[in-house]
Amino acid sequence: MVSRKFKRIKVRVRTPITKTGNGAFSGGKVNNLLLLGTNGENGNDGKRYLVKGIRGLLNHSMMAIAKQQGVEICHSSDKTETQSGEKLLPEGFHPNGACFPESECIWHSIMGSIKRFSRVKFEPVVIVSTYSKGENGDAQKVHIATETRNSLTHGLKQAMQDFGERYFSGEFTFIIDFNEELKQEELGFLLKAILFMPELGLGGSVNNGSGKIELLEIVLQEVFRTRTIGKNGKIIEEEKERNLWKQMEEAW
Ligand SMILES: [Zn+2]
Repeated sequence: MVSRKFKRIKVRVRTPITKTGNGAFSGGKVNNLLLLGTNGENGNDGKRYLVKGIRGLLNHSMMAIAKQQGVEICHSSDKTETQSGEKLLPEGFHPNGACFPESECIWHSIMGSIKRFSRVKFEPVVIVSTYSKGENGDAQKVHIATETRNSLTHGLKQAMQDFGERYFSGEFTFIIDFNEELKQEELGFLLKAILFMPELGLGGSVNNGSGKIELLEIVLQEVFRTRTIGKNGKIIEEEKERNLWKQMEEAW
């Protein structure tokens, strides 16, 4: 048997409506949600989608908190200006990873960069329509709607590009697992950034009223995971979770 003990933050959120980005590709938009539908059955039935953008949203939250606290942190870019000499770096930020290792900022110590790996890991959030039947694994059930807008190639009755916009609404949980122990100050900063997330919103069209998220519940846990080989080579994985209310309270 192998085992590992680590900490985890679990956050339950509700969104009245979140726009997910366009079709199968996010079109390079920053902070979009990318939906990966694979088995194209009737409507949204059975299609599993990956909700993207949570890490990006938390990044923006951290930037906002750092600004409020007057703390300098890494910017998302490692460049100080564009090729044409335009200044990229807002006040209060240094180029991504520039602080490491001499004077590592709190953002970098949690999120890392190409210079050092992240201390936290975001578990993928997979959603599926509430109407889907059968085995959904780890997928979380939400309402999913699609507005179909296909671009047809001239002369071919075939959709070349799927512009259909997906929206989803409902409750889902996202999980941040710690690869390494965070200092109390870092944990507090992370918790504050999560608390700030509703001020920013998730996904595309935040300014047009979508992407509102409401935080419902947050918990810090200690997880004890074991994995062993059972009969006939079957892998048995178990997780025991323990809530760390006191430690969470002390951190923020
Ligand atoms: Zn930094």
